[in-house]
Amino acid sequence: MAHTDNRPSRGLGDRLLDRFFSAGRVLETERIAARMTRVRIGGPDLRDLDWLPGQQVRIATGDPGADGVFARLGDLRTYSVWHFDRENGELHVCVLDHGDGPGARWGRTATVGAPVRFRGPEGAFTLRPDAPYHVFAGEETASVAFGPMLRALPDEAPVHGAIETATPEDRLPLPRSESLTRPLRGTTSAADSTTLLNAIRTLDLPTTPGIAYLAGEARTIQRITKHLVHDRGWPRRAILTKPFWTPGRRGMD
Ligand SMILES: Cc1cc2nc3c(=O)[nH]c(=O)nc-3n(C[C@H](O)[C@H](O)[C@H](O)COP(=O)(O)OP(=O)(O)OC[C@H]3O[C@@H](n4cnc5c(N)ncnc54)[C@H](O)[C@@H]3O)c2cc1C
Repeated sequence: MAHTDNRPSRGLGDRLLDRFFSAGRVLETERIAARMTRVRIGGPDLRDLDWLPGQQVRIATGDPGADGVFARLGDLRTYSVWHFDRENGELHVCVLDHGDGPGARWGRTATVGAPVRFRGPEGAFTLRPDAPYHVFAGEETASVAFGPMLRALPDEAPVHGAIETATPEDRLPLPRSESLTRPLRGTTSAADSTTLLNAIRTLDLPTTPGIAYLAGEARTIQRITKHLVHDRGWPRRAILTKPFWTPGRRGMD
């Protein structure tokens, strides 16, 4: 008797997708902070990947069952890797539920077993271990990148910084918290945040520059960069910036 294979045939698009994207599945989700979902992703592809603290992955947040590769990959969004475990083939991302958008929706509705396509890890927003001291500044989304960076620093490395959130419940658990201020902005926007800028302005930093890691909302990053360069006399090369989002822009990278 003839055997009929009902599986859809895999075209060029699917083969390209297999070549350029890694595949995994959602293993677990957890509300790790008031508006932040940690999504644990696993699969054999992850055992072939490398990662440095601070790097990110690009996740296809569109419908994995949609027809056509572009429909499935149309909503690519970038997420910092919160935890990476090569041996067990796992990575964790933390997605802020800021409101509406394909990325926020993906994080909010991720279910165990759902397939995930992603690229990376990649990116140059990583630790500069030789710096005399390390300054971290950002909001909720930036703190996802900062978590593994802080965990990777040796205990003796001096740390300063400010991590702003809307409420105390929005804070991610971060190491070295005794060295970080955690200002609250309340109901005001995280965009162009004077709360974070003022917290950085009042940091008691050494008089010679260290290295600064600025991430999160783009306009706030610009303001803090200006402050470090103009008010504190830091050279631009001592400031690493990574804008994650800004009002009106979609899927920034
Ligand atoms: C290198 C890098 C690392 C990133 N890491 C993380 C991460 O670890 N966790 C994370 O949640 N996001 C992270 N982001 C941001 C993420 O890629 C998405 O941009 C974000 O999830 C919004 O996508 P969306 O599809 O929900 O909204 P979009 O459709 O892309 O954006 C719609 C609008 O929503 C608003 N918006 C977007 N993000 C925020 C926000 N955080 N707060 C308030 N309003 C917002 C803006 O007005 C934007 O124009 C990162 C971005 C980059 C470039």
